[in-house]
Amino acid sequence: MTVSIVPRPAGWLPATRRADGKPFWIVPASTGNGVYYATSSGCTCPSARHRGGVCKHQKRVVELEQRLTSKLEMSETRPSYADVFPECRTDGCHDVADHPSGWCDRCASDREWEARCESQRTRVVESWL
Ligand SMILES: [Zn+2]
Ligand SMILES: [Zn+2]
Repeated sequence: MTVSIVPRPAGWLPATRRADGKPFWIVPASTGNGVYYATSSGCTCPSARHRGGVCKHQKRVVELEQRLTSKLEMSETRPSYADVFPECRTDGCHDVADHPSGWCDRCASDREWEARCESQRTRVVESWL
């Protein structure tokens, strides 16, 4: 199963705190000078340290983590009905494709019949030549 990569702001790097294994993000400073360390509950940027409260980095972290968890939840859901019972390859035919060729039984036998007619037609044309 493919797990799509969650888009993250440019330059952000996911990291894990060695002391307790807590994830955090290394955020490039908007001044272009140095980096901040941001989690959903704290940040080392001047705005968070001097003014307190939630800075824009923390808000982005919360957003990212929510998106990550919802992606994980989605990938853990059971296969959908369409995965288990693929539809017939014929456009407009919504039968279940129980034939290994990808057609439903009805379409598969239709095609077989058509192929047989086609080969007979060719034979007739050839006999005229
Ligand atoms: Zn911040
Ligand atoms: Zn069909």
